[in-house]
Amino acid sequence: MTYTVTLIPGDGTGPELAAALETVLAATGVPILWEVHDAGLGVMEEYGTPLPEHVLDSIRRTRVAIKGPITTPVGGGFRSVNVALRKELDLYACLRPAKTMKGVRSRFEDIDLVVVRENTEDLYAGIEHMVGEDAAESIKIITRKGSERIARFAFEYARTHGRRKVTAVHKANIMKCTDGLFLRVAGEVAARYPDIEFEDRIVDNMCMQLVQKPELYDVLVLPNLYGDIVSDLCAGLIGGLGVAPGANFGDDIAVFEPVHGSAPRYAGQDKVNPMALLRSGVLLLEHLGEDAAARRMEGAIAAIVAEGKDVTYDLGGTAGTSGMAAAIARRINS
Ligand code: NAD
Repeated sequence: MTYTVTLIPGDGTGPELAAALETVLAATGVPILWEVHDAGLGVMEEYGTPLPEHVLDSIRRTRVAIKGPITTPVGGGFRSVNVALRKELDLYACLRPAKTMKGVRSRFEDIDLVVVRENTEDLYAGIEHMVGEDAAESIKIITRKGSERIARFAFEYARTHGRRKVTAVHKANIMKCTDGLFLRVAGEVAARYPDIEFEDRIVDNMCMQLVQKPELYDVLVLPNLYGDIVSDLCAGLIGGLGVAPGANFGDDIAVFEPVHGSAPRYAGQDKVNPMALLRSGVLLLEHLGEDAAARRMEGAIAAIVAEGKDVTYDLGGTAGTSGMAAAIARRINS
């Protein structure tokens, strides 16, 4: 069976990372027909929007997409395409596994955490305005529906992936209404999963604990903004943004993407690490039900990284993006 998958290469280093992904996925032999569509700054002039309707239509049709990073202008210009995609397609759950890989330099060992971040609400919804000239206001929205479905996603993920515990992360001691609701609903959902342990942590304490005792934690479920920040913290525990994969899920659509951004200063240099997008590709194969191919691809990435020869600068090697991808592709078929 041939799978049709939407591919958005993105901008900055996105296109070279997408090429690396295509090379490695082709080596797995899983037949994928790519619907390739551009989004971001490069299409603004032609379509008047960084996220044209035909890109959304493609994803609505294929129900599965993988994308490279897309630049968001700071302080002005268009809103984040990444955030718009999640909102337009109601991709409410962001999944970011953080697992140590041998050969990747990190101050920590044996990290195996999964961050489940709510993707549609909270301060991150960007509902903000100026109040006169010298004040600004941002509105934090948390709903029962949003909290319910993200908690359910976290517990279902834990159950289907053999995980033992879900920790809800919040600041309900200060934001008693918004984070209080998130925590209360998470507790209600937890009661329906007696086989999975449930606990909660205040977000500041959580950050300290993740640095001091990460082995105590398993699946973390967080509202949008804390999820964004704690995801990067967890990426740091496993060796940085260059190696951390991600996925965004709605009820019947999935979009896979690396945690890192477009690293624009390296664009076109065949230099950055393709691992985060490749590991997102492993998640894509699992989603398609191609578990054997996913394990072969994961094994080949792990082997090349552990050998430390055909790897990019950030992993202590001298290979380029394309060279590392080619080595992984060869290993899949060896
Ligand atoms: P970034 O992730 O692009 O870069 C941060 C640092 O990490 C840089 O120093 C870069 O050298 C390093 N890095 C990132 N990816 C790497 C890789 N694959 N290999 C090796 N090193 C890597 O973050 P930023 O500089 O804050 O953001 C740049 C742009 O990307 C911004 O416009 C931002 O809005 C956008 N962004 C997009 C996404 C997305 O598309 N989902 C996510 C985050 C940021």
